[in-house]
Amino acid sequence: MKIAFFDTKDYDRIWFEKLAPEYGYEFVFYDTRCTEDTAILASGCDAVCVFVNCVLNKKAIDKLYELGIKAILLRCAGYDNVDLDACKGRIPVLRVPSYSPTAVAEYAAALFLTLNRKIHKAYTRTREFNFKISGLMGVTLRGKTAGVIGTGKIGKIMIEILKGFGMNILAYDLFPDTSLDVEYTTIDDLLKRSDVITLHCPLTDDSKYIINKNSISKMKDGVILVNTSRGALVDTAALIDGLRANKFRGVALDVYEEEDEYFFEDRSGEIINDDELIKLMSFPNVLITSHQAFFTEESLEAIATVTCENLKCVIEDRELENEVTR
Ligand code: NAD
Repeated sequence: MKIAFFDTKDYDRIWFEKLAPEYGYEFVFYDTRCTEDTAILASGCDAVCVFVNCVLNKKAIDKLYELGIKAILLRCAGYDNVDLDACKGRIPVLRVPSYSPTAVAEYAAALFLTLNRKIHKAYTRTREFNFKISGLMGVTLRGKTAGVIGTGKIGKIMIEILKGFGMNILAYDLFPDTSLDVEYTTIDDLLKRSDVITLHCPLTDDSKYIINKNSISKMKDGVILVNTSRGALVDTAALIDGLRANKFRGVALDVYEEEDEYFFEDRSGEIINDDELIKLMSFPNVLITSHQAFFTEESLEAIATVTCENLKCVIEDRELENEVTR
C-alpha cells in the first residue's frame, strides 16, 4: 500500500517510518498540505494521510476519488476540515479519535497556570537578570470556579486536574454524562459564575462562535478564557473587543480561527498579514501557542499506530471502528 502523506513534519516521519515495514506500507512524504490544488500529488497512491489544516473540500475529495484513493486517514481527532458529505459512499474517512486526551488536558492546565502566574513573562525577565516581580501577580485557584464546556474525553480529565487545584467545577455539555461527579448547568449560568472558562467541545455548526459578543457580555469581569479545542469556537473580533474593554484577566489560546496560514510553520522572517492575530499578540494578557496541546511522545506514537491500524481495517475489509460519521 502506498500512502501520500501530506503536511509532513520531522516528528511525523519518525513514528510513521518506524511502523511502515511492520505494516508493509510505503509512505510518500509531502511538506505541502492536501487541498484541491495539491490532491493530484496522491496520484498512484492507495490512501492519503492528512492533518488538521489540510482542506478537504468537495473539489479535493472529487480529485482523490478520481485518483482511486481508498481511504482518507486523518492523523488527528477533529474532522471539521473534511467535507464528509462529499466522501459519503465513496471514500471512507478514518480518524484517531483519542490519542492522548491526557496530553491535551495537561497542556490546557499548563497554559492556564502559565497565564495566571505569568510564568512566560517571568522566564524572559530573569533571562535578562530582571528579578522584579511587579506585574507578575496572579490569583490563587483554590475555591475559584472553573467552567468546563464539553465534558468528553479531554473535558473529563481537565475536570480531574482542576479539582486537584481545589476548584469548584461547573460543566456544560449538549449530552451531560450523569455518571460524572460534577455540577452540570446551562451555558449562561456557567458563563456568569466561572472565574475560568475552558473549551473542550468539538467545532460543529452548533458550537461555532460559542464564545461571541453576547456570551462574553455574560461572563464575569476578570475571567480567564482557555481554548485548546478549535479556533472557531471563539469569535476573534468579539474576543478582541472584550480584551479592549478589559473584560479578561487573561486569554490562553492553543488554537486560532485563522490558524491555517501560520500555525505549525516558521513565519518569523515574514510580514504577518493577519491583523486580528497581530492585535491578539499585542495584548499583554494573551498567551498564544501553535496548536501543540497534543504534542507528546505518547500521542505521536498512538497517532501513528492507530492510523496504520485504520488503513489495515480498510484493506482487510473489517469493521471501520474509527470511521468518521456525522
Ligand atoms: P469528545 O468527543 O470525547 O468530547 C466532546 C464533548 O463535547 C462531548 O461530550 C460532546 O457531547 C460535547 N459537545 C459537542 N458539541 C457541543 C456543544 N455545542 N456544546 C457543548 N458541548 C458539546 O472529544 P475530546 O476528545 O474530548 O476532544 C474535544 C476537542 O478537543 C476535539 O473536538 C478537538 O477539536 C480538540 N482537540 C484539540 C487538540 C489540540 O492539540 N489542541 C488535540 C485533540 C483534540
